[in-house]
Amino acid sequence: MSRFLSLCLRTLAPYTPGEQPKEGEFIKLNTNESPFPPSPRVMEALGPEAAAGLRLYSDPGLEPLRSAAARCYNLSPDMVTAGNGSDEVLSFAFQAFCLGGRVVFPDVTYGFYGIWAALYGVEARRIPLREDFTLNPADYYEAGGTVLIANPNAPTGLALTRDQMEGIVARNPGNVVIVDEAYVDFGGESCLPLLERYDNLLITRTFSKSRSLAGARLGLALGSPALIEDLERVRNSFNPYNLGRLPLLAGAAALEDKDYLDACVEKIIALRQSTAAALNRLGAQSLPSRTNFLFVRCPGLDGAAYCAALRQRKVLVRHFPGPRTGGYVRVTIGGREEMEHYLDATLAIIEEGSK
Ligand SMILES: *Cc1c(COP(=O)(O)O)cnc(C)c1O
Repeated sequence: MSRFLSLCLRTLAPYTPGEQPKEGEFIKLNTNESPFPPSPRVMEALGPEAAAGLRLYSDPGLEPLRSAAARCYNLSPDMVTAGNGSDEVLSFAFQAFCLGGRVVFPDVTYGFYGIWAALYGVEARRIPLREDFTLNPADYYEAGGTVLIANPNAPTGLALTRDQMEGIVARNPGNVVIVDEAYVDFGGESCLPLLERYDNLLITRTFSKSRSLAGARLGLALGSPALIEDLERVRNSFNPYNLGRLPLLAGAAALEDKDYLDACVEKIIALRQSTAAALNRLGAQSLPSRTNFLFVRCPGLDGAAYCAALRQRKVLVRHFPGPRTGGYVRVTIGGREEMEHYLDATLAIIEEGSK
């Protein structure tokens, strides 16, 4: 730290991304990426012509991505904007709606929410989830600040129904309710149908998980034209060229291939369910997941020890230290063979522990 660093950054603990090891060395189940390649349409969209276009700036109006998203989700284009990952979209939302105010989110959720609150000097009110990690919607009625809920939640994998979410949106007419739908394609109920009735609802989506484009850095915000205009004001005051030409093309192509998305999601869900059942037979518990990961407890081991034991067997998973999450690890649903390897490793760890 230099002596020049801004005061507000000195005590902030930045986000620690999951490890990105060199290819081949590990089975990588630690950052919720997709085991499948992007849609073939993405490959086609990124040809020599696209590369030649890099001479010019990208479109500050975010085309062709914005139109493709509007078509895909049946919205008008003024209800869509995009960012360099949904992380950037969420960061714009903090700046647009939370500065000088308060943000309200669960105690166990995506770690970045608290970091943005610290970065932007926003008061964070953390509401504890119930003992079983479920969220009580009534805790968020008249929340007294911007509400931010990942649905399905991470790292628990648990989801609220659309009706439960609507209760929260309807009872916060004076607050923006941001629903982070990073994992919704894996079996959650989207709040999209609520957009026509509520002007205080903002939905964020990512291309990093279900659409196999983590490396493209693409996220969307979907909401009322007024909320989107506010986000655009931030984006255009920060970096109007926040998305490069290649990601704009890749994202648009991915959105146009619904069949491919459905096929990938179907395989992940099937493998998630069979992995959860296999873990259960081994005596390891996981929470009922609506995402592309499982939140798993290994008998006789805390999360840190289980994570380390898996790492020794070349399997990377994510562990979240802390009083509530410390007993668990988060395991991404990867490919079939990867999950077999993970289950074999878990069996070996459990057998070793019982010797
Ligand atoms: C992965 C994730 C994000 C970030 O996604 P990017 O688009 O890669 O920035 C946001 N929210 C949640 C809950 C996530 O799990």
